Amino acid sequence: MAQRGQGAARKASKKPAKEPAAAARAPDMDSLGFQAMDSNVPGLSHVILQKLNMKSYEDYKSAMDGRKRGSDFGIRTYFDMFQKMEDTFKFCAECKKLPDALPDPKSLRRCKRCQNVYYCGVACQRANWPLHKKFCKKLKLVALDRLVEWLVFTGDIPFPTETWTRPAGDVAGWEDWFAMQEQLEEKLGAVLAGRYMSLLWANAGKPRPEEGELRESVRRLVTDFHSRPLTIGLGLRLFGIDPLAKPLTVHVVGASHVETLNTRVTDYDELARMFPGQRGMEVVMVGVDVVDGPIMRPPLATPGPQGRIYLSSFKGLYHDFWEGQVETKLAARPDLVVGFHPGFHACPDLMAGWLPTLLLLRDYRLPTLFTVYSEQELKASLQILVELETHITGYAANPFASLRPEQVYSSPNKAPVYCSSYYITLLGPAASVGELEGGSDED
Ligand SMILES: [Zn+2]
Ligand SMILES: [Zn+2]
Repeated sequence: MAQRGQGAARKASKKPAKEPAAAARAPDMDSLGFQAMDSNVPGLSHVILQKLNMKSYEDYKSAMDGRKRGSDFGIRTYFDMFQKMEDTFKFCAECKKLPDALPDPKSLRRCKRCQNVYYCGVACQRANWPLHKKFCKKLKLVALDRLVEWLVFTGDIPFPTETWTRPAGDVAGWEDWFAMQEQLEEKLGAVLAGRYMSLLWANAGKPRPEEGELRESVRRLVTDFHSRPLTIGLGLRLFGIDPLAKPLTVHVVGASHVETLNTRVTDYDELARMFPGQRGMEVVMVGVDVVDGPIMRPPLATPGPQGRIYLSSFKGLYHDFWEGQVETKLAARPDLVVGFHPGFHACPDLMAGWLPTLLLLRDYRLPTLFTVYSEQELKASLQILVELETHITGYAANPFASLRPEQVYSSPNKAPVYCSSYYITLLGPAASVGELEGGSDED
């Protein structure tokens, strides 16, 4: 059930860590993602593990799962942390050679424009330019955001937000959301002037960008942080589920370390600000790759606590959770089920894992929303859902997609992807196969 999509470097928008070491997030990905990296750049997964002082993917996984709590990956200083993170991006974008394969590993040069991709020498850089120039500008933003993301760990991002002053249905997207934030420029300014922003550029090994660029980066990471709760809110609206009418339960199916690593109990509070006067909402993270942490606590047996957003987790497959917890009334039945990038379109193995869950969602007629990374994934996912005779009630570009671009990790010269770019909504079995509704952005 691990999530996977387009091989994009997995990101967990997360949280203050007790020490810099714990904040050094490896490019998160599941074992499939690891193998995919090596097919583009042989040995790359090995380099990542080596930089993090780990011997195998299993080591990496158990660190992610929290079994090695306090593991510092052998990192002692901020400089070390940023250096090791950057090292994992060091391979020639043209010939794919890793530094170890060069006569002089130091000869690896970085594109000065984007500060993102590397080359083994001038010849490879020249050969790569016709392709790279199409992506260089966007890759500059990608490289900037992955450094500034550290401020999510330190707690500087997101800034404190306001209760929505407009009905959720009138907020068409991020522009409207930012417009509701009072003293936005002051709040962004405070992040830029913060101690951790200074520490970052003192240690990143790259020049501090100008203030305007940094401000934009912080804005993108704020959208990245709030994208998941607001997408849940969108799902409630699309199905006409009213949070003011009764307490609600939302299941996040196929949750992994992306949703649960270092997640704080307050991380989905934006949902309460989105629906002022809401009666209480529980969001249960369910998945085999759910990580131990503050939200690892049992789901509630009765719907959401009065007026609050309550996060809980269950480590296991969704259909097992359903049988063991929901059927036995240990956990409340969901009003909405959401899956962020389930990735079931990607390979037969993932599909095998997802099939019982997809059939359960269909046969119990659970209002369901899935997100995907790209139009291509949207098409592939729709096709599978049609084949499963699921009633697709709608699909479109997600107004609350993350605005943070992410590169396909081992293959940077590709169009970047954005988390939860598109959504699909489902409800029960299809009346007849192949009948589609909605799809406002499909021709
Ligand atoms: Zn090269
Ligand atoms: Zn470049």
